[in-house]
Amino acid sequence: MQPLLYFDICSVPIFLIILISVYARRMTKGMSNRLFITLLILSVLSALSDIVVEAASCSLPLSEPLLVMSNICAYIYFISRSTSIVVYFFFVFSITGTWYRIRRKRMKAILLIPFTVMLLTVASNPFTGLVFSVTSEEGYSRGFGINIIYVICTLYALCGTIYLLSCHRIIPKNKIFPLVSLYALTMTAVVVQFFNRMLLVEMIATAFSTILLILFVLRPEEISDVSVGSLSFEAYRSEIRKILLTKQKVHIAIISFTNAYELRSYLGEMRFLTYVSHIIRQLDSMFRRERVFFDIYFEHPGTMYIIIDDPKYDVEDAYHRLADELMRRSEKAVSAGERLTAVACDLAVPDDLNDLDEIIRFGRDFVQQVPPGKIFVNASDVIASKDYRIISNMDLILNRAIAESRFKMYYQPIYSVEKGRFISAEALIRLFDDEFGYVSPALFIPAAEKRGVILPIGDYVLEEVHRFISQNNISSLGLEYIEINLSIAQCMQEELPEHLAFLRERYGVPPEKINLEFTETTYEDMGSVMQFNLDALSEVGYTFSLDDYGTGYSNMQRVSKLPLKIIKLDKSLVDDMATDDGLSIVRNTVKMMRDINKELVAEGVETKENLDYLEKIGCHFIQGYYFSKPLPEDEFIMFIKEHNKINA
Ligand code: C2E
Ligand code: CA
Ligand code: CA
Repeated sequence: MQPLLYFDICSVPIFLIILISVYARRMTKGMSNRLFITLLILSVLSALSDIVVEAASCSLPLSEPLLVMSNICAYIYFISRSTSIVVYFFFVFSITGTWYRIRRKRMKAILLIPFTVMLLTVASNPFTGLVFSVTSEEGYSRGFGINIIYVICTLYALCGTIYLLSCHRIIPKNKIFPLVSLYALTMTAVVVQFFNRMLLVEMIATAFSTILLILFVLRPEEISDVSVGSLSFEAYRSEIRKILLTKQKVHIAIISFTNAYELRSYLGEMRFLTYVSHIIRQLDSMFRRERVFFDIYFEHPGTMYIIIDDPKYDVEDAYHRLADELMRRSEKAVSAGERLTAVACDLAVPDDLNDLDEIIRFGRDFVQQVPPGKIFVNASDVIASKDYRIISNMDLILNRAIAESRFKMYYQPIYSVEKGRFISAEALIRLFDDEFGYVSPALFIPAAEKRGVILPIGDYVLEEVHRFISQNNISSLGLEYIEINLSIAQCMQEELPEHLAFLRERYGVPPEKINLEFTETTYEDMGSVMQFNLDALSEVGYTFSLDDYGTGYSNMQRVSKLPLKIIKLDKSLVDDMATDDGLSIVRNTVKMMRDINKELVAEGVETKENLDYLEKIGCHFIQGYYFSKPLPEDEFIMFIKEHNKINA
């Protein structure tokens, strides 16, 4: 009787189709994916070699070439089949996120002992004929030693099944069953085949369960981010969940691009993503060289999370090496203006943080906590800082501040070089919390934007400044207007012109007394509503300042087209005046802006030296601690009365 080869033959295209789909969907990153691919390749090899051996046995006696070929294929079959059992065993640990349990070399060596026995048994076959024999008269026939292989495979299958069932808390049931099915179906098929030599159903059983795996377990949309060729942020979240449940110790290297938004709008989405994937590839090859277990996850627009499965790994050292390497390479690849800038952090889980939400939040918030000039921080330092305590309690702080109207307005004087007195002030919001003390607007304004509670805060600022102007007759103090910061959400708010009209009426404040500030980032995101608002408001007589000029990708052409009266040079530009390059950047910026008839405010001027230089090169207005910090209403009025009289 001839064996039924159809099952084996059918299994080959199934494995191949799955293999192709794995590559087509770029599921090639990460340990689980790599093990799965290995499993598929080994299965194809097993099925093909099995087909050759069994088919050859149908045309006895075997010719010399067929005999040699059958022999070779029989070895390929036994080696690939037994290896695939072990590969799947490791796959189980990887896909359940519990790889760390077998990470140690000794542990792996123990787990590989049965496998080694299997290999030795197969390797001894030429001398002992223990496992199988192929003769030209009888073809392929099994030996007694094959039972050793069966027993060992059963051992792996049993251990794997028990382990999977014990993981029910870590991974959902709809994934456990497909994972167990590979063992269950294959073992059943082996039993069938053992009793009926003609029914070669083993490979097709494995093929069916790999279909289940690809459909229910390895879901690329949950796992990989094809746009950059890494694992996805969702996968990161579920991996962290597993790590916390299993009390595993890992390092997470978080690398965050600080200019991702700007660079994305500058390069365009496609080129930006290509650039990011290039960097991810570099990271990948570096960590491979370091021989640590790692996986890279990406969150748009520009944060990479690298989970490093080695508690002793020195992340800081690695990051500095990486930064050097990337710098060297990107020097060639892109021009200076296109370079991504990044800061990184080493977060030890669970030592630094042990709560899923907090870990996720930390990845998004730590950037604000990196001191200027540094590119690396340890999470433990960040977490110990006062700012972090504030950031991680921001929901509470904001809710309380809004509910109890805890905000106050401060005013920072702005000096006119030409007039030799203070002619305006920037209104800056302040928040003092009973529990956390002073909460900087640099922390709570972005947080309020993200949480969608910025509008009530913005409304408070507008109303309060209108009241201030109308109650204090600022003209008599020598002040021409007050500058108010607008958030992105306010700029995009359709009701903004009406709201200002209402306040204008109510407090009798003419538009000339108010200057509205927005940032370049706001402008980048400018929708038609914002454009409409700018036009409508400037028609009524409001003027605008572009805030923080010099921090983003400043585009002169755009600047010249906007209805801007004033450009505010960011503090970082002013600080850079300590260097020759910085000095000439500021000088040229001032010249350019003057040429297109913009007025200039230099922000953050702290020294007499900077003040003198800015005056000399023709900067119109100066704002900074050199004159005064932002002051509460009463103190501000006293300050202005005193100084404007003296200078008048
Ligand atoms: P900004 O609009 O760039 O405001 C200037 C910031 O620089 C203020 O920080 C001011 O106190 C600080 N500053 C001024 N001169 C100096 C100096 O000489 N040295 C140093 N080191 N700092 C100086 P502040 O008040 O902490 O505000 C931070 C940011 O929060 C502001 O940056 C603005 O983006 C936002 N913000 C503040 N108040 C409001 C507001 O009422 N509405 C909105 N939407 N945002 C606001
Ligand atoms: Ca401002
Ligand atoms: Ca500013």
